[in-house]
Amino acid sequence: MTEMLLRYFRKKQQQVETEKVYDTQCPFCSMQCKMQLIEQSTVTRKTYKTVGKVNPTSEGRLCIKGLNAHQHAVHKDRIKHPLLKVDGEFVPISWDEAIKVIREKFTKIQREYGNNALSVYGSATITNEEAYLLGKFARVALGTKYIDYNGRLCMSAAASAAAQTFGMDRGFTNTIQEIPHSRCLILAGTNIAECQPTIMPYFEKAKENGSFIIAIDPRETSTTKMADLHLKVKPGMDAALANGLLKVIFDEGLVDEKFIAERVNGFDEVREYIASLHLEEISEQTGVPIEQIKKAAIVFGKEESGMIFTARGIEQQTDGSTSVRNFFKYSISHWEDGKRVFRIRSGNRARKWPRSKRAWAEG
Ligand code: SF4
Repeated sequence: MTEMLLRYFRKKQQQVETEKVYDTQCPFCSMQCKMQLIEQSTVTRKTYKTVGKVNPTSEGRLCIKGLNAHQHAVHKDRIKHPLLKVDGEFVPISWDEAIKVIREKFTKIQREYGNNALSVYGSATITNEEAYLLGKFARVALGTKYIDYNGRLCMSAAASAAAQTFGMDRGFTNTIQEIPHSRCLILAGTNIAECQPTIMPYFEKAKENGSFIIAIDPRETSTTKMADLHLKVKPGMDAALANGLLKVIFDEGLVDEKFIAERVNGFDEVREYIASLHLEEISEQTGVPIEQIKKAAIVFGKEESGMIFTARGIEQQTDGSTSVRNFFKYSISHWEDGKRVFRIRSGNRARKWPRSKRAWAEG
């Protein structure tokens, strides 16, 4: 039996005529896990396999999405030609023909309704260079003032909150490697176990080290199951919950007053506003019991180090910017104690893919 298997695998091995290895990275989430895509050609058949590459963030791990990320590029149903709808049916046309049709339609619309009748909407998956060209295409070629991309929904709440709070938009104020050493972790609107699974080991290590994990999410998820305390906030009430946490640390005298006095502007107004709020009302609005709000605020306030992770769950709301800003304020109130904020990005933004990846993605 063993001999038969060996013969089978040797034969298979000999059938592999060429093997190409592409260094690339997963396009799906902010972890940007690095990997190698291995393309094996046997006669006319190509097969692919993916292996993780060691890197400082995911340390060579890949999740199921990354392992299969290449499939959209090599799938047999991938559209490779322009399609024009004729009598309700799509028919393939040449690129020259497609560009001619687009030019005719665009010219007609702009002649009739003006340049701003056209708008451009970009994707977060295009490269930096493509994003630049799209901007030029909108402003110079089309002459329209309307251009946007999906980052407005994805990131602008956090970006504006960071700009208003810290004076600049930066993703993180600490490193991912600090997570296991943090004594308290607040996960606000982020489902790391399913959205960024390759960094879960940092949180598991933190737990092993005795870190207290607080998850803020209306739903029960694999991430909330890992938490020591789950605040099941009502959807859209995260800004109020952050104010509740602030209220408790003001009442308990857990604010880092020295840091606030030396380094923070406008905190008196925050203090005044928070003093006008009532914890009972916040509890009613958010659906989170007072004892749980107090427990979360006091554990984070008293532990010697901590991190707050904010993500799409608290950002993609009508007052998403306020929600994130309130969590930033809560973090600042303990800033010099080693409490920091860490923003988790779930989607990929305009970025530069390595050329090797472009090569296989473009087929
Ligand atoms: S965590 Fe998964 S989806 Fe995100 S970049 Fe890594 S492999 Fe891709």
